[in-house]
Amino acid sequence: NESSFYFFYSTLFAIITLRGAKKFKATTTPTKTITLPDVIGSTPLLYLPRLSAMFGIRVFGKAEYFNPGGSVKDRAALFMIQSAVRSGELKPGGLVVEGTGGNTGVALSMICASLGYKCYLTMPTNVSLEKQLTMKAFGATIELCDTKFGVSDAGHYTQRAKAVAKERGGVHTDQFYNLANSTSHSSQTAPELVSQLCSLNISDYIFATGAGTGGTISGVAKHLGHLSEKPPVVLVDFEGSGMKAYLKTGQFTKAPGNTEAEGVGISRLTRNFASGFKHIDGSVSVSDIEVAKMCRYLAEEEGVWVGPSASGNVVGAVKAGLREKQERGEGGEEVTVVTILCDSGASYLSKMYNKEWREGVGLGDAGTLGRGDLDLE
Ligand code: PMP
Repeated sequence: NESSFYFFYSTLFAIITLRGAKKFKATTTPTKTITLPDVIGSTPLLYLPRLSAMFGIRVFGKAEYFNPGGSVKDRAALFMIQSAVRSGELKPGGLVVEGTGGNTGVALSMICASLGYKCYLTMPTNVSLEKQLTMKAFGATIELCDTKFGVSDAGHYTQRAKAVAKERGGVHTDQFYNLANSTSHSSQTAPELVSQLCSLNISDYIFATGAGTGGTISGVAKHLGHLSEKPPVVLVDFEGSGMKAYLKTGQFTKAPGNTEAEGVGISRLTRNFASGFKHIDGSVSVSDIEVAKMCRYLAEEEGVWVGPSASGNVVGAVKAGLREKQERGEGGEEVTVVTILCDSGASYLSKMYNKEWREGVGLGDAGTLGRGDLDLE
């Protein structure tokens, strides 16, 4: 009958309208929410008890792999994007372009996805597959560049990034040059570190870390340089890097070999490195075999699963600490060393944590680290 006909259709109309309204009603963001960029930083400072006991010094690592993108580069990427937004260069929905050994790419692609930017990344072909797939998962476009190109060749990944940014009207974040990179560490990583150590009543320590862009070491060194008593800052130099020679002689002389550790080891003074250079007091060398052994030790004995650069940083920090311990002699004050645990072992399942890969690069079954395994020069 007519009334049930009207009742049926008016109810149907009401349901459709209400469902539509529910679907398209704009959400109001509640106050005090946190979004992804807010959880970058404030990483824990881990004490490594077994390693400390083995060498008789106190060893701490700032666990940057707790960042949402899994590495220390989340900080630099966020600061570079924020600086491009502030300067007006990066507009809503704009394109971010970077040449990256991996972690900066992961960080940028994650932050771009979170903030609504597009992301194009150029990188050498030897970047781990895990990192490449992660960047793609965040929706970035990636371009692989042959490792045969020198840094000033048009085909080198850093030159490609410049060219792509120009062609497509994107913002080249330029992590080697852009000082927002080291500022993220002078204004964030280092103050966190100092206050974490302060809350443990530790003011006498050595800070040691490696360099890729130099952003971390320079940024931390700049902050420490302003303290009334500056802790020594030591560069951890990986196989093949010319940085140690530069620190000593002012000339870049390539060291033998080429490290398998991704993201570290440079043979030129980048603008970021140069910005904190005067606060760097010395260097220690680490070899890939030491890196491989320490990776295994940290995972198996400390439950700390990190990538090769972090492992090398720990090797370097221990070496710097042992040198200081020897100088202080019997009965000297206890030595504390602090380093950066740059990223997680998860990115290297197909490389450092894969026996076939290790055998392919001559690291074989590296075994775990013992007391006598560090070459103390
Ligand atoms: N470790 C890894 C795995 C990295 O990707 C990087 C960045 N290139 C570093 C260490 C070095 O950091 P920075 O660029 O701040 O010198």
